[in-house]
Amino acid sequence: MSLKVLKFGGSSIGNAEALRRAAAIVRDELPAGGLVVVSALRGTTDSILEACAAAGRGDLVSAQAVLEALRSRHREVAGELGHLQAVQADWDPLFGRLDQVLTGMAMLGEATLRGRDGALAVGETLSAHLATRCFCGEFHEVRDVMKTDARFGKARPQLGAIRHAAASWRAALSKGPLWVTQGFLGSTPDGVTTTLGRGGSDTSATLLGEALDADEVQIWTDVDGVLTADPSLVHEARPIPQMSLSEAEALSAFGAKVLHADSLAPGGRAGFRLVVANTLRPGASRTEILPVPPHRPAGAVTSVAYKEGIYLLRFPASAGLEPPMDAARSLEEAGALRFGLISSPAGTLLAVRPETHSAAEVLGTLAASGIICEAGWAVVALVGEGLRADPVAALRHLAALGHEPVGGLLTGSSTVSIAFLVPESRLGDLIPRLHERCVDGLRSSNPQLV
Ligand code: ADP
Ligand code: ASP
Ligand code: MG
Repeated sequence: MSLKVLKFGGSSIGNAEALRRAAAIVRDELPAGGLVVVSALRGTTDSILEACAAAGRGDLVSAQAVLEALRSRHREVAGELGHLQAVQADWDPLFGRLDQVLTGMAMLGEATLRGRDGALAVGETLSAHLATRCFCGEFHEVRDVMKTDARFGKARPQLGAIRHAAASWRAALSKGPLWVTQGFLGSTPDGVTTTLGRGGSDTSATLLGEALDADEVQIWTDVDGVLTADPSLVHEARPIPQMSLSEAEALSAFGAKVLHADSLAPGGRAGFRLVVANTLRPGASRTEILPVPPHRPAGAVTSVAYKEGIYLLRFPASAGLEPPMDAARSLEEAGALRFGLISSPAGTLLAVRPETHSAAEVLGTLAASGIICEAGWAVVALVGEGLRADPVAALRHLAALGHEPVGGLLTGSSTVSIAFLVPESRLGDLIPRLHERCVDGLRSSNPQLV
């Protein structure tokens, strides 16, 4: 029997109306059962992090005020849907647990990464219970199968253990029930709660798709699929009907938030169909991500992506290669993303984004040891299968930047992308210009493009 996994992100389950829409999609897409993965209601993860930060400062009053606001918002949504009474029994212990964790943090005056993951799990679990009621499904605890290491805050999935633990899910789901589970969460071999990093529920869905031998994974969000640029910076951004796995990988790695950076690898390994669609407009266009690239004219750019919050570490040539390599290793181990490690006779440049508190700490230690460490950079990437056939086109596109200060060209990362560093403050102006020139400009001269 074929299995579909649907994932609803916080952006598309923020209120009662959105949950009703999601329920209609589940009815349409999964008439014969399947698995639904949900993340926390929009804004919940940020609120829980805020509560943890307050508790970690010893400010239990503020932490509990956030908890009460979360409780009343969740009650309101469940009440509007007519499920408050039914879901209350599942929710009470979760709010109790969150209260305990926050109280513990306030007593210690510290919000550990492990404690924070435990607190964050409450957000995903609250919404999964509510979604279970809305979709008339059965709740199953994702931490039973999503096995990870113990890097709290950005845990690494353990593929063999996940597949092994998912055997009973595979057998049960083949009989056609409708199951609902949480995204974003995992557990260590000892059963301690972990999280996969911000935005990680896309990765939960694709990892589950892989472990359950699914035929299709659908990511339901708040835009009409993967677009030619971030719509918050480029109003003219358009949906891309079909794209290759390599394009999607490059886009997500370079910042397109619509897909979590780790969410593409499972599809590459397992070969299921991956679709991105809009919960707000289910009939609108959607993006299908294919293992075999769609045809793109040579030199064509499919999409422009960017990521803020990049730090540049500059090592003098006299330092040699070992210090930058060591720094890159310890930063990555702590959960930083590496965007470039460029060595030339003039010295070595390391571009990183500290995604976790521990990575920020490692960065602080490196800066304190005298390494030049500049904040305020961003990485910008032009992505497209067309660059495979004509990589020089990327350089022509770069020439369009005129006198923009470019901090470094990041080549070799992927054959379908070219990336470079620019000051963060330039993004608002640069991304629409690049989109107009590289995506729209080429399109108007070549109607074969998306
Ligand atoms: P969810 O809560 O469903 O996981 P996210 O907020 O994580 O949703 O991701 C969807 C958002 O990603 C969109 O609302 C959009 O603002 C942003 N985004 C950035 N780049 C792109 C892109 N190239 N295509 C589509 N969306 C993008
Ligand atoms: N709720 C989590 C977050 O806000 C996971 C996700 O949205 O994918 O990061
Ligand atoms: Mg997301």
